[in-house]
Formats: sequence, C-alpha cells, structure tokens
Amino acid sequence: MMEPVGLCLVLPCFNEEATLGYSVETLVAILDGLADRGVVSRQYGMMCVDDGSEDGTWAEVCRLSEQYHGRLSGIKLSRNVGHQNAILAGLERVVGKYDAVVTMDADLQDDVSVMEEMLARYGEGCDIVLGVRRNRNSDSFLKRHTAKMFYGLMKNTHTPVVPNHAEYRLMSNRVVECLLQYGERNVFLRGIIPSMGFKTAKVYYDRAARQYGKSKYPLAKMLNFAVEGITSFSIRPIRSIFLVGVVSLLLTISVGIYVLVAILLGRSYPGWASLMLSLWFLGSLILVALGIIGEYIGKIYLEVKSRPRYFIEDTTDGDGHKKRGTNCE
Ligand code: UDP
Ligand code: MG
Repeated sequence: MMEPVGLCLVLPCFNEEATLGYSVETLVAILDGLADRGVVSRQYGMMCVDDGSEDGTWAEVCRLSEQYHGRLSGIKLSRNVGHQNAILAGLERVVGKYDAVVTMDADLQDDVSVMEEMLARYGEGCDIVLGVRRNRNSDSFLKRHTAKMFYGLMKNTHTPVVPNHAEYRLMSNRVVECLLQYGERNVFLRGIIPSMGFKTAKVYYDRAARQYGKSKYPLAKMLNFAVEGITSFSIRPIRSIFLVGVVSLLLTISVGIYVLVAILLGRSYPGWASLMLSLWFLGSLILVALGIIGEYIGKIYLEVKSRPRYFIEDTTDGDGHKKRGTNCE
C-alpha cells in the first residue's frame, strides 16, 4: 500500500466570510476520513489566502486557525491581487513542506470527494492531476455561453488550456517548485500548468452551485480574464496582423485588375485609379510592416517573461531511480 501523502490545500479567499467556516469544516471531515484510511498523512495542512477581502474573512481565517491549530494557517494579502496571484502566494508559503498540494476555490463548488481520486493518480506517478467538470449544468445561461466562447478563442489562439478545468488541481511538490520559477507578472495558471509537461491525469466531476456568498466573477471580470489568458500566452493575435497584410496585398492585385478593366471600359474618373491603387497598396504595406514589428514585439514579450527553459522530470546515474519530490537537485 502507498504511504500516506503529505497533503496541503490552498484556498484563495476573497470576501468569503459567509462560506469559509462551512468549507473548512467540510474539508477537515474529508481530510480526517482520508487520514483514518491512511490515504493522507495526519499532518495535512490548509492554507487560506485572504486576497484583500473587505468583509470579515480575515477574522474568520484567524478563528479557524485557532480552532484547527497546526492544520490550518492563513496569510492576509495587503490588497486584492486576484485569484491567480492569491493561489501563487499560498503556494509560495507551502512549497517544500508537503508531498503534494491541491488548489481549490474556497466556496467548495468543486466536488471535494474526487480529491481521493486525485491522490490515487498521484500515487500512480502523476505529478499533475486536473479536475475537469463533466458539464456546465450548474452555470447560468450567460456563464455557459461565455465559457464556450472563451474556450473557442483559446483554441484559436493556441493557448494551451484544458476545457472545463479551472483552478481545482493537484500538483506534486516538485511541480509547485517548477511553477514558482515562472517570473511573469500576468499569471494565467490554466495555461501555464498544462504547458509544463510532467505526467498529467484528469479526474472528472460535477460542479455544484455556490451555497453561501456570491460569485466574484461578474461578466466584466470574466472578459478581462479571457483577454489576460490570451495575451499572457499567445502571440497569434500579433501574427494575424501580418497575415491580414499579406491577404490585403493579394487583394490589391485584384483591385488593380478591377481598376484596369474600369479604365478600359471608360468607367474611370481622373485621379480615381491612382487613388484606389495607392490606398490599397499603402494600406497593405502598413499592415505588413506592423506585422513585422509585431513579430519582434512578440519575441520581446516571450523574452521578458523569461520562463524556465526546461524541467527535469527524472534522472538516472545507474543507481536506480530517486524518490520523486524535488526538482532542485
Ligand atoms: N477569488 C480571489 N480573488 C479574487 C476573486 C476571487 O481569491 O479577486 C477567489 C474566491 O474567493 C474563490 C475563488 O477565487 O475562492 C473563485 O471565485 P468565485 O467562486 O467567486 O468564482 P466562480 O466560481 O463564480 O467562477
Ligand atoms: Mg465559485
């Protein structure tokens, strides 16, 4: 049988006063159950990250950390820095202390019972286990359709996201170490993590409706998130400018033929032909030039991110395999 896994949960909390007590109580019951069966170690942890809440979330975190002393700890960020950064702040606090980390929303909309399946995949050697929603039945009409558009856009811009996977995932400690090597400011975890490599598995679950409190993702914030996702991952939008320029240059040839025919048929006016041609030709040239500049900007953008070039998944020196755990040898 597998050794109990040293597990830590990271919960980003923004104005979650109404739900946190219930969520933590539920999680403790599940984790204790898993510890009783030897799936997770008794020294499991929970890290609540208060993302600059304006309600009583921090008081609630402090109360819970007293109640579950030694198992639950918290950090309070000085202002609201967003879901993604809050998760990273939590990961930075717990890296190196546990075998694996599970990140999940504090409202427990994601089915926490599949954590056991995640741990089973981890036991089989997976470093990343993604929680994927089976369907979007529990979402509003608006959210369902905007999500569909979001994933369509992601696909077209080659942003490596896994449809219907949000922030519910398990990562081994070494994956967390690798993730923390990304120095970029605009963080889009859903794109970064699937692009890291490592043995990855998916577990499927149904997402419940929120029980307490309300969603922190109104439409404007979701749109912002989609733009953030694409622009922090893909240079395809810039590249498309160049393509539009080339297509426009080709169209200029057709416009040239049209102008010539119009002149031959006597349907031209003085100055019209030269205006038409120079308009199309110069317009296309400007687009192509912008596209070329864009290619360089795209390169600068990738350089500025200075993402890690590679991660070592395994090593061998003839003495057998080392235990999985750390990437910093
Ligand atoms: N969250 C956060 N910072 C924010 C917005 C949200 O830490 O600026 C947290 C929030 O507390 C929750 C998770 O991110 O734990 C997901 O937010 P929410 O449940 O509101 O999103 P939804 O499920 O409606 O997409
Ligand atoms: Mg939610």
